[in-house]
Amino acid sequence: MSSLAERFAAVQASLPPTVTLVAVSKTRSVAEIQALYDLGQRDFGENYPQELRNKAPELPQDIRWHFIGHLQRSNVKHVLPLAHLVHGIDSAKLLDEVEKRAGGKSVEVLLQIHIAQENTKHGLDAQEAETVLQAHQRWPHVVFRGLMGMATFTEDTAVVSQEFRGLAGLFERLKALAPTPEDFDTLSMGMSGDAPLAIASGSTLVRVGTAIFGTRIYP
Ligand SMILES: *Cc1c(COP(=O)(O)O)cnc(C)c1O
Repeated sequence: MSSLAERFAAVQASLPPTVTLVAVSKTRSVAEIQALYDLGQRDFGENYPQELRNKAPELPQDIRWHFIGHLQRSNVKHVLPLAHLVHGIDSAKLLDEVEKRAGGKSVEVLLQIHIAQENTKHGLDAQEAETVLQAHQRWPHVVFRGLMGMATFTEDTAVVSQEFRGLAGLFERLKALAPTPEDFDTLSMGMSGDAPLAIASGSTLVRVGTAIFGTRIYP
């Protein structure tokens, strides 16, 4: 069996230097996260507000927490003080809540785009994302950093590649609509199973859990 250090090194070696690695640490213990931190990792991704709130105070303050789960409006006030980047913004109403809870600070977000065939995955379609960016003046404290998406869970690499390329194309088109196009620089796509395909399609950030930490066991 491989060690955490070996798996981490293999994932790092597979990434071009320009791609940010977010280590997805949902269900992982504080000790496991600390061990990866000690190997040099600083960007971690969490899906559940309560889990993030439990773990963050126990871990080094220079960790950059990415909130990658589905965010409910009732949880925005708990997540914003901890999150470096919120990946799952999927409605104007959620942005209203983010603006309200920003406390005068800038909040960095990604718009989540629905690219998969499954209808269980959250996200905006292209038209909705465009409408949101055109209305950006409603949310002066929100910094639009880019897009996030999840491909269909399938072995069919042609389907996955096509979805990633579609998202990359949308990312380029929407950049021009962002209030600060130079900040609209993050394309969050790719997980343990499909990171190479995502990178080939232009991903700038991958969210990898299993390939680093091993199989997740849900309590
Ligand atoms: C859990 C999760 C990941 C990581 O998935 P792995 O297959 O373990 O790499 C990435 N992104 C999101 C949104 C997730 O929920």
